[in-house]
Amino acid sequence: MEVNVYDRVPEGFLETGFRDFERVLSGPSLIRLTGRANPPLLLATLLHGNEPTGLMAVQKLLRSYRDEGETLPRSLHIFVGNPRAATRNLRHLPDQDDFNRIWDGGEGPEHQMAEELKRLVLGRGLFASIDIHNTSGENPHYGCVNRIDSQCIQLASLFSRKLIYFTRPKGVFSSALAEYCPSVTIESGLPNDPYGLPHVYSFLRRVVSLDAIPRRAREEDGLEVFHSIASIQVPGESRIGFGEQMDGFDFCFIDHIDKKNFSEMPANALLGWRRNPALGLRVIDENGRDVAEDFLAYQGSEIRLKRSVVPSMFTVDARIVHQDCLGYFMERYELPPFSPSG
Ligand SMILES: [Zn+2]
Repeated sequence: MEVNVYDRVPEGFLETGFRDFERVLSGPSLIRLTGRANPPLLLATLLHGNEPTGLMAVQKLLRSYRDEGETLPRSLHIFVGNPRAATRNLRHLPDQDDFNRIWDGGEGPEHQMAEELKRLVLGRGLFASIDIHNTSGENPHYGCVNRIDSQCIQLASLFSRKLIYFTRPKGVFSSALAEYCPSVTIESGLPNDPYGLPHVYSFLRRVVSLDAIPRRAREEDGLEVFHSIASIQVPGESRIGFGEQMDGFDFCFIDHIDKKNFSEMPANALLGWRRNPALGLRVIDENGRDVAEDFLAYQGSEIRLKRSVVPSMFTVDARIVHQDCLGYFMERYELPPFSPSG
């Protein structure tokens, strides 16, 4: 799998909807645009084909400078990950790896594409990297960082007061780029969230105009930081439903479970029901261990929490539950004080 490289805006890029985007770009593509300042800002979109807000915000950003007759304030590297999956409104195609799990090395065609992209963008340095996503369940807009670094945190805080620090899953884009420049993932709500596009657009417009990413995380910013500690996974062959309806399902989760995202769930809270006691949910911590026993209790057919957690990314899309996970358990995280130089 190759990366197509363009040194101008490709024909149709600014006007085409994501469901038709394969007509504009046949596969993973890097668009390098020159602005007044360097090094370039890297923007990643459509790593997940069914998450279009990032692409729409990039289109709006480029149109706005074009319509104003203005040069970009800073050079841009725009990476469009998976237009083929976008055309089918899928996270990724059935025969592909997840494009946001391939950035820490590996043998497959997607991994090789990832290595090529890194070679292409890292040559002359990067100002910062922003990977733009939607969530498949209802979540507030938030930023994610993969290391506790004051510039990563400052960059994320320009998007949202809510911030998640996570080191698992492995192989995510923002984690790989964080070795080279301030790097964040931003999650801009559901794909149809009307506030997603204007919010991401104004964030990008602000960052592309910055002379520098501020270094100091200011306590008065009132950031709410969460540490993602484990993901909840279902057995591959199990049948997943929502609401209390056991017929035909192995696991059912409470109705509107995504409404719980970012709110505290106390110990003993109901998560769902299990029909087949031979099957168990897995709760995978940051070291890859199954810690389900620490978090979940089965009481009859009920699945309850053993301890309080703050969930995120809970989804009501059974396909995403299988492809990725039901969601994550988080706890509040106290930021360390940053020195002015760090
Ligand atoms: Zn995504």
